[in-house]
Amino acid sequence: MIIMETDATREQIARVIKEIEQYGLRADVSKGAFRTVIGLVGDESKVDFAHFATLPGVKEAMRIETPYKLISREYNKFFETGEQRFVVKVGNIEVGGDEPVYMAGPCAVESKEQLFRIAEGVKKAGAHILRGGVFKPRTSVHSFQGLGAGGQEEAREALDWLRDAGNRFEMPVVTEVRGEIQVDLVAEYVDILQIGARNMYDQDLLTKAASTGKPILYKRHFGAGIEEFLSFTEYMAAEGNKNIILCERGILPVGKGKSYTRYTLDLGAVPAIQKETYLPVMVDPSHAAGRRDLVYSLSCAAIAAGACGLLIEVHYNPAEALVDGQQMITPDELKDTINACNRVHKAIDLKKN
Ligand code: PEP
Ligand code: MN
Repeated sequence: MIIMETDATREQIARVIKEIEQYGLRADVSKGAFRTVIGLVGDESKVDFAHFATLPGVKEAMRIETPYKLISREYNKFFETGEQRFVVKVGNIEVGGDEPVYMAGPCAVESKEQLFRIAEGVKKAGAHILRGGVFKPRTSVHSFQGLGAGGQEEAREALDWLRDAGNRFEMPVVTEVRGEIQVDLVAEYVDILQIGARNMYDQDLLTKAASTGKPILYKRHFGAGIEEFLSFTEYMAAEGNKNIILCERGILPVGKGKSYTRYTLDLGAVPAIQKETYLPVMVDPSHAAGRRDLVYSLSCAAIAAGACGLLIEVHYNPAEALVDGQQMITPDELKDTINACNRVHKAIDLKKN
């Protein structure tokens, strides 16, 4: 990492970047209000940091050992705003700002009517962002794969509904990109690209999705350690896209736990991750619980643990849903959950988290 002097000139910064590139590395240039910090992207084992420290305009040059330095608090502290959380702006919604952000909607988009009815319900309940899967990751090839599986035309039609519902009810929209091949198509329609738990390790998908410049909702794999999760997040930051919202959604349960909860919500990960990175962290209580009667409690607990928001599956009639009906709550239940979470948020002092 190269920290420039506050009065470093453009030419001095350009020289540092050029020398970084001569090593075959890329420069991640972050311009703060007062100074520029340049991160090195790639294998920096041969880099002579002592030399960089002697270049004009350079305040400090140092090797940072952590595998996720571009998203680390350590990196950000050289900016005047280093202590604050980083806000991902999506339209006029601020994820990671002062108030919790609620993303809600069906697991899968099933029809225009279904989506619009749910969108209206979640908006009235207080949600800020509309979710809905068009390409669903499924364990069985025999299950409903989302309308996107029907081909380009069907995918575009479903994405159009999502866009229209978002416009109509004034909510940005988020949907999953399950593979690299879907990224350009989906990016035409939505405000946030979701990378699901199963694809957390797909470097090519991460790089491709980040290169669109769109905000990313990035879910932790159910078997991934925190260091792995953050290390893979770095692939997106290295593309120059730091508009990343991290999402804890439960890790594999032990023993017979699975008969009680689908996954084990790792709430300790929320403040632990928040101490490592300036990126906002949210929680998905729906997939973690796998049952609707736990969503309220887990939601309140997640906000108390410092989550900047929640991702919740909602349906007006969960019994009708083609996917994940057992964990969906109704718009009325969402309203109660959001109200309770907002009270919890007011009651805690985030600085202590
Ligand atoms: C989802 O949010 O639609 C989803 C499939 O969740 P996860 O990737 O966490 O399983
Ligand atoms: Mn689901």
